[in-house]
Amino acid sequence: MSAPQVKGYCPGALQPMESGDGIVVRIRPFNGRLRRAQADAIATFAAAHGNGMIDLSSRGNIQLRGVTKDSYAPLIEGLGRLGLLDPSPEIESRRNIIVTPFWQTGEETEALAAALTDAVSAEDAPQTPGKFGFAIDTGRTPKLQKASADIRMERDAGGGLILVADGHDKGKPVTSETIIEEALALASWFMETRETQNRMARLLTDGASLPSGFIVPRQVQDYVPEPGYTPLGAMVGLAFGQLPVETLASLAKQGGLRMTPWRMLLVESARRLPDVPGLITDPSDPLLRVTACTGAPRCAQGLARTRPLARKIAPHMAADQFLHISGCAKGCAHPKAAPLTVTATATGLDLICDGRADDAPAATGLTPEDIIKAI
Ligand code: SF4
Repeated sequence: MSAPQVKGYCPGALQPMESGDGIVVRIRPFNGRLRRAQADAIATFAAAHGNGMIDLSSRGNIQLRGVTKDSYAPLIEGLGRLGLLDPSPEIESRRNIIVTPFWQTGEETEALAAALTDAVSAEDAPQTPGKFGFAIDTGRTPKLQKASADIRMERDAGGGLILVADGHDKGKPVTSETIIEEALALASWFMETRETQNRMARLLTDGASLPSGFIVPRQVQDYVPEPGYTPLGAMVGLAFGQLPVETLASLAKQGGLRMTPWRMLLVESARRLPDVPGLITDPSDPLLRVTACTGAPRCAQGLARTRPLARKIAPHMAADQFLHISGCAKGCAHPKAAPLTVTATATGLDLICDGRADDAPAATGLTPEDIIKAI
């Protein structure tokens, strides 16, 4: 079996990525929000310029698949008209920001997201690696601690702002006036210290010592995201983070969309959801506990049709089980360890317990029926 290819960068709109089903164009909504008109237009673009399927990424971005060399230029032109593009691929690459979806208009979180966007867009901002990112998690309690980020903005138990280097259990006390400057200083420290390392937590695990000042204990997240109604609107799940264009267009009629890293969307002001394909509104739906990558045939490296496999296995899972199904050892959909991982190989399915998709399996060469019996 050939090793999976590691591309080494996160795709964007200005730096798209080739995949088995054409070009993947990933849009990074500013402040983690799409206005209704933007969401509606993206649905139209996905139908006209892509293959009609839209994915939500684990960093709260939205991506169109199946774009061709001919349709890429008109798509980019349209995204530019909607105000969804960065000035350059370099700025797009470092504007890797997840924002807690529960901010209210006029609150500090919104201002911080705008200020950080401006700061990383400046010509002299540190050119951090493609997968390096920021999380603005400045609601009263943390919600994004399990989302991928390297520099985090949170609040301590008393409500004060703290700056956090991912992987460290204490934060540096900051103010709304200093936090952006401190975040860029921490990014610069990372760039000066990292040598070949691309992620903050790994750098700290390798023994790097943070600058002084990281002394305030962080709060520990107890929030568990799930579909349901919130004061801001309706949170809806999307199986495998995928939604057809009709579903996106229907949601856009309800309200603006807040992006999340949880394969869910928060539909602003929605009090009643449309009956459209792909929405998960029941928090007990087992598909919320299955992560599956694109797999074959859309991903050229896929060795199994991951999503039909996931739909087959999901109804047999216990209520407390979480399953990661990976079309190859690369593990794109869940790069970390999972309690149970099924990895497709050229000779069947591997079952891995408490590991990543490329870890040593507990059993190999299994069929889907074997997996159902084993879990
Ligand atoms: S993990 Fe899935 S999406 Fe990633 S390369 Fe392998 S088959 Fe493709």
